Amino acid sequence: MEYEATRKFAAAMDAEDELRKFRNEFNFPRAKGGEDCIYLCGNSLGLQPKRAAQFVREELEDWATLGVEAHFHARRPWLPYHRQATPGLAKLCGALPAEVIGMNTLTVNLHLMMTSFYRPTAKRYRILIESSAFPSDRFAVQSQLRLHGFDPATGLVEWHPRAGGSELHTGDLEKLLADNGDSIALLLLPGVQYYSGQVLDMPAICRIAKRAGCVVGFDLAHAIGNVPLDLHDWAPDFAAWCSYKYLNSGPGAIGGAFVHSRHLDDAGTPKLLGWWGHDEATRFAMANSFTPAPGAELWQLSNPPILSYAPMIASLQIFEEAGMKRLRKKSLLLTGYLDFLLQQRFAGQVASVTPQDARGCQLSLQVIDKTVAARAVFESLERHNVMADWREPNVIRVAPVPLYNGYNDVFEFCERLQAALHG
Ligand SMILES: *Cc1c(COP(=O)(O)O)cnc(C)c1O
Repeated sequence: MEYEATRKFAAAMDAEDELRKFRNEFNFPRAKGGEDCIYLCGNSLGLQPKRAAQFVREELEDWATLGVEAHFHARRPWLPYHRQATPGLAKLCGALPAEVIGMNTLTVNLHLMMTSFYRPTAKRYRILIESSAFPSDRFAVQSQLRLHGFDPATGLVEWHPRAGGSELHTGDLEKLLADNGDSIALLLLPGVQYYSGQVLDMPAICRIAKRAGCVVGFDLAHAIGNVPLDLHDWAPDFAAWCSYKYLNSGPGAIGGAFVHSRHLDDAGTPKLLGWWGHDEATRFAMANSFTPAPGAELWQLSNPPILSYAPMIASLQIFEEAGMKRLRKKSLLLTGYLDFLLQQRFAGQVASVTPQDARGCQLSLQVIDKTVAARAVFESLERHNVMADWREPNVIRVAPVPLYNGYNDVFEFCERLQAALHG
């Protein structure tokens, strides 16, 4: 693509964009003057799909008019409600429908998955994470180590970027496992690193882990709905995600989990049980003996909160209409345009630390001009009605999202960045 650093070019790209109409499916926050903000924060909280309100309203109506009968007779019956999401989630994950389940929230699901798949022995008990892991993931694995009687000081192994950079190199992981592999039980790694925006080489990680005899799980918080996934074929043991980032399902939305088919229907896998993991046909017989539901549904514990599930069903419908292939194609062009404009206009002032050949929507920007305070630039962007996000110590994350952002958003961001750099 031959990009041009002009507003005219951005407008022409928007006019040609076959996904352009999806922008109208979303509510954009507005500044006091009534202008839509430049929203580049879908990596943190995706925008509200307009049809989310309709879906929630329908559940409220069905509750009002049907009461308890809505479990069976709502337009989307509540008893098998999760199955409204399964096909869409399976598609986004590149998984079989039996391998995915929408449930709980991300950190809860990480714990449920580790309950099943972190099975330490005296010799092989350590957990490997990356050194800049999201704090919740770090806390979760530290507490899992303690739960099994191990000291995180020795039980936690960290995969570091090389000195002076933020990029994780798969070769370094390979070496770590060659040196320590027989003491490591589990690798818990992100699909997309939340701070740098780097897409990790998930298939390679799966191969390396398997060779070393380690279990591997992915945190897909920044990956699902952002980059193509092929979980069934890559074959990690498990994965978990949240749905309020690129999946646009609302604050605290229902998360999800993937369990590879080789672990399904394996009675030997330990798991925490509740009545929603009981086979649906006989669940309400209320017997004292447990009959497992098929597939990943078995990991469900409770009946899910329908009102917070509904926006995800609405959002998955939009993903189905847009198609992940088309979204990824546009995403590469759109984020590529942002990268191009930054290099054209802000060389020596602002640089992206996100690897060019391994990225999703997000670029993580650093202000490298030492005469300008990065935090002040971020605050000035906020005053110019740009919503991005700040991550300590010095990164501004910007994520043009192909579902609702366009080339003009990217161009306009750069105009406002220019103004912000000049105070
Ligand atoms: C967003 C995010 C979380 C948030 O966890 P919740 O349980 O949804 O609050 C955890 N881990 C990573 C890597 C994230 O990006």
